[in-house]
Amino acid sequence: MDTIVVLFNRDLRVHDHPALAEACARAGRVVPLFVLDPAIEARHRRDFLHETLHDLRSSLRTRGGDLVVRRGDPAEEAVRVAGETSATRIWAGGDVSSLARRREGRLAGACRARRLEFRLFPGVTVVPPAALTPSGGDHYRVFTPYWRAWSATPRRPVLGPPERVRLPDGLDPGDLPEPSSEPFGVVRGGETEGRRRMAEWVDAGLARYAGTRDHVAGRTSMLSAYLHFGCVSPTELVELACARPDAEDYVRQLCWRDFYYQVAYAFPDLGRRDYRPRADLDWAGDGDAAAAWREGVTGVPIVDAGMRQLRREGWMHNRVRLIVGSYLTKRLRIDWRVGVDHFAELLLDGDMPNNCGNWQWVAGTGNDTRPYRTLNPLRQARRFDPDGEYVRRYVPELASLPDDLVHEPWRSPAPVRGYPPRPLGGELRA
Ligand SMILES: Cc1cc2nc3c(=O)[nH]c(=O)nc-3n(C[C@H](O)[C@H](O)[C@H](O)COP(=O)(O)OP(=O)(O)OC[C@H]3O[C@@H](n4cnc5c(N)ncnc54)[C@H](O)[C@@H]3O)c2cc1C
Repeated sequence: MDTIVVLFNRDLRVHDHPALAEACARAGRVVPLFVLDPAIEARHRRDFLHETLHDLRSSLRTRGGDLVVRRGDPAEEAVRVAGETSATRIWAGGDVSSLARRREGRLAGACRARRLEFRLFPGVTVVPPAALTPSGGDHYRVFTPYWRAWSATPRRPVLGPPERVRLPDGLDPGDLPEPSSEPFGVVRGGETEGRRRMAEWVDAGLARYAGTRDHVAGRTSMLSAYLHFGCVSPTELVELACARPDAEDYVRQLCWRDFYYQVAYAFPDLGRRDYRPRADLDWAGDGDAAAAWREGVTGVPIVDAGMRQLRREGWMHNRVRLIVGSYLTKRLRIDWRVGVDHFAELLLDGDMPNNCGNWQWVAGTGNDTRPYRTLNPLRQARRFDPDGEYVRRYVPELASLPDDLVHEPWRSPAPVRGYPPRPLGGELRA
């Protein structure tokens, strides 16, 4: 009886999972496998991942299967499990980062050596990364033409979850780490939770997105971590959104995600090397000013609020990511890689293409067609947090200041106790 190993990666769901759906339809036996790789375990995303894996295991068990869990190198373990179960094929979802592609390359080589079929399936993005190319280039460098081409591209159909998953007999499923009793971050992991949030968002949040998405005290869809781990399918999310009126602004943001994935696919060094080298830039390195930025003690309230939100919640509003990013790179002139590393450590949605693509955009080395633009933090704060609700929430030292001073505590006639948390030079001010 034919057996297929389905190697899960950043596609931790049973709905709209092309490899799992086809394997369950075609093979007598299917081994859903996840390999915990200590080499890439990110401390602050660990709780979300473990919650997600428990949820996936329970969904697969409900369908008669299980999530088989191993530890080590995913390519080696997948081949080992294929050997144990006499599987003839290993299928997986394709990914874009250079790390993921090196792993895919190793797995492809190991499969060739053992005469196993190896196949990669779409699903991490709505439109596969290399599917759209402009005339005369291997990828889109500017968003608007990409958006036009992306919007006109037919999408693959959304797939239902498999009804039954038939596991080979006698296979040890392996242990999953228990979820932490005090998990980090503002959202809990798992496809079940992701789908609940997606449905609620499409029903109740989406319609007001266009008018409110830059209000920093409010919440946007908060689906980014679910998209990062694949608890939610981006294709299904776009389909659901497109069935509603006024979804264009939201779908456009999801297109930005695909946009950066195709940039990262074509330019694998996106995380380390300037996408558009700029001879006029001489970055400062990591030092006291960067430390103050990371801790949220720069003395600029909107910047400090954002950096503290990140530390507390593992998430930050997109507008504030832009403000703190512009402040680090354009005002302090600190290398964008310092920002990338800090965000990558703390964000629950920390994701190579989106994190690095956006940082390079903000720094003026990436896909922004106006690389010299600078966001004035004070003006941004007055516009997107007009009554100071956001700043008061994350910088309680400023909670009792009136609205007209909350973004400019230095104008207060009476000194504000405890803020800025330590005396800083004027160069850190807005
Ligand atoms: C400096 C910087 C770093 C960032 N790092 C990341 C990161 O590591 N991971 C990440 O997922 N997003 C990143 N973003 C993009 C964006 O801030 C987040 O996707 C968004 O805030 C997540 O919240 P949400 O799901 O509520 O977004 P919503 O506003 O509800 O948007 C829906 C979805 O669209 C996508 N999206 C929205 N804005 C962007 C964008 N600018 N670029 C790419 N995709 C977008 C995301 O998948 C998001 O979940 C970064 C932005 C900046 C400026």
